[in-house]
Amino acid sequence: MTTTDRPQATPVQSAPVDEPVAPPGVDERQARQVAEAAREADWHKPSFGKELFLGRLRLDLIDPPPVPDAQRAARAGEFLDRLREFASTVDGARIERDARIPDEVLRGLAELKAFGMKVDEKYGGLGLSNLDYCRALTLVGSANPSLSALLSAHQSIGVPQPLKLFGSEEQKQRFLPRLAGGEVSAFLLTEPDVGSDPARLSTVATPVDGGYRLDGVKLWATNGTLATLLVVMAQVPRSEGHRGGITAFVVEADAPGVTIERRNAFMGLRGLENSVTRFHDVFVPAENVIGREGMGLKIALTTLNTGRLSLPAMCVGAGKWCLAVARRWAAERVQWGLPVARHEAVAKKIAFIAATTYGLEAMLDLCCLLADDERNDIRIEAALVKLYGSEMAWLMADELIQIRGGRGYETAESLAARGERAINAEQVLRDLRINRIFEGSTEIMHLFIAREAVDAHLSVAGDIIDPEATLGRKARAGAKAGAFYARWLPTLAVGKGQNPGAFGEYGPLATHARYVERASRKLVRETFYAMARWQGKLERKQGFLGRVVDIGAELFAMSAACVRARAEAGGPDSAAGQELADLFCRQARLRAEALFDALWDNTDALDVRAARRVVDGRYAFVEEGILPLPEEGAWVAEWRPGPSTVEDVRRRYR
Ligand SMILES: Cc1cc2nc3c(=O)[nH]c(=O)nc-3n(C[C@H](O)[C@H](O)[C@H](O)COP(=O)(O)OP(=O)(O)OC[C@H]3O[C@@H](n4cnc5c(N)ncnc54)[C@H](O)[C@@H]3O)c2cc1C
Repeated sequence: MTTTDRPQATPVQSAPVDEPVAPPGVDERQARQVAEAAREADWHKPSFGKELFLGRLRLDLIDPPPVPDAQRAARAGEFLDRLREFASTVDGARIERDARIPDEVLRGLAELKAFGMKVDEKYGGLGLSNLDYCRALTLVGSANPSLSALLSAHQSIGVPQPLKLFGSEEQKQRFLPRLAGGEVSAFLLTEPDVGSDPARLSTVATPVDGGYRLDGVKLWATNGTLATLLVVMAQVPRSEGHRGGITAFVVEADAPGVTIERRNAFMGLRGLENSVTRFHDVFVPAENVIGREGMGLKIALTTLNTGRLSLPAMCVGAGKWCLAVARRWAAERVQWGLPVARHEAVAKKIAFIAATTYGLEAMLDLCCLLADDERNDIRIEAALVKLYGSEMAWLMADELIQIRGGRGYETAESLAARGERAINAEQVLRDLRINRIFEGSTEIMHLFIAREAVDAHLSVAGDIIDPEATLGRKARAGAKAGAFYARWLPTLAVGKGQNPGAFGEYGPLATHARYVERASRKLVRETFYAMARWQGKLERKQGFLGRVVDIGAELFAMSAACVRARAEAGGPDSAAGQELADLFCRQARLRAEALFDALWDNTDALDVRAARRVVDGRYAFVEEGILPLPEEGAWVAEWRPGPSTVEDVRRRYR
């Protein structure tokens, strides 16, 4: 029996026991320290992205791209065929209408072993490569994006991936066969007071005999209502024999003391089974700690290194879908004597969607192949494709709506009721919007990637920019940095990209490879100037850093497009692929150039001052003329520890 039909109107924060738990007093410095401690500082393998941000275009690291194992790919192909057949029977409109994935669809996915795509065969899974897994998500998301969100939250951030990377053999044997067989998992980090900043985490795991007692409330856990196994991030207090810190646990969702208090509803992804989950005095055995105490955030971040690839897989799917609709509709719809595709303003949008889908898929496939090959470190590339994919897919869907005119804004159901084709462009736009927020919001991805992009500068500057360093230490660091830059800067002045015959192996695309080489050096020079100008304050220049990262994303995307076109040379779509790669690179180059211009010509400082004045109320007069906002309700609900007082809304599909 499922429980989703029960009333759900009770507020989350209603357990009237004890005092509210105040968020831990975390200042900005502590928050940064927590993030920095979780960062993987070491680089054991080569990284194309890291080199790019150092001004070195190392195409040899990505070209030729790794070749997938033929036998494994053939097995995956058979699975993808079965999945395609199944997905074509799913009624995506029903999921949207009922805001629920039907039980029979969940059962069908389980029978296909779709919940075990990323689980090794020896634990009962399919052991798909990242490439085939992402293809499966692209495919299944085209039936309804809530399905790919379900499968990806389960496998990319849920229990399978952290166990694969950090779990003991005993844990793998205990949990993975259950998950491969169709049990669902979820990942619970976010809390009412913890979004982007994990230092405020207040769910506590108190050591007790044989394990821990878990107390806290977790917000927005995708799959939370369905899941039977959870990855929960909680603070272990430091004590005798316990190093403490944020720790990752596997928790049985049906354990006493776990209550699924709400199923949340959103702007899009209406089929998402997303929960508020309360833990009250929940016993978790010690053997369920993943890794060890204090490793929780590192586990979360490392899991996301490849976990982040699934989200752009859905963005690629959205791009393909937008293109398919734009192609047919814009040829058919005639206004002002011409199919709308022939009006230049619309033509530009179609060209943008086609080129961007090509470029984005090139980026994603390359990242997947590199991840499967395990030859390179792909943490920067995966972060770039998540950032770029989520932003670009949103733009593509928005442009599609414009191309569709009023029909773009109309729901599929309404279109069908009038006898027109049920194209759900507005739903696709709504479903895509969250990708710019979760698994690292665009702003946080900018900071995350920028941290790596400026790492060389930060480590060489060291004490110069450390506000706590003594003058003597600063002077010594200054001399060291001077020597470093004296050697390094000249290497950024000249490069292969200035040689008109360079990169000839890319044929007509060589000009783009040369641009990427020149632009990557320019990017580092600009970063160096910024470092010299702002020193330690550079980390606060988020406008500047965001543009540096966005330029890096365009350069990586261009590289991937050139590599793809070269790899496909001689194939059936080779000439068409070259055209698209060329178009994509030309568009990307214009975006990169605009970003370069804006590095130094912008209103960043003014905007920061203005925002402060907005918040201080100086411009409140501009808000006059509308009704006041509601006053009731907190902006962020407080939660109180204690047993739940609301009905449990968990759902079990079999
Ligand atoms: C549909 C949905 C599904 C989700 N699924 C899960 C899940 O399965 N598991 C889970 O643990 N969580 C999940 N989340 C939570 C999600 O990961 C968070 O929403 C996300 O991390 C952002 O946190 P926040 O919403 O609290 O925003 P906040 O952190 O409050 O940020 C608000 C704004 O400020 C910006 N910002 C914050 N800090 C900085 C900074 N230092 N510099 C610049 N800008 C900054 C943010 O980018 C954002 O624009 C989900 C959320 C939603 C809506």
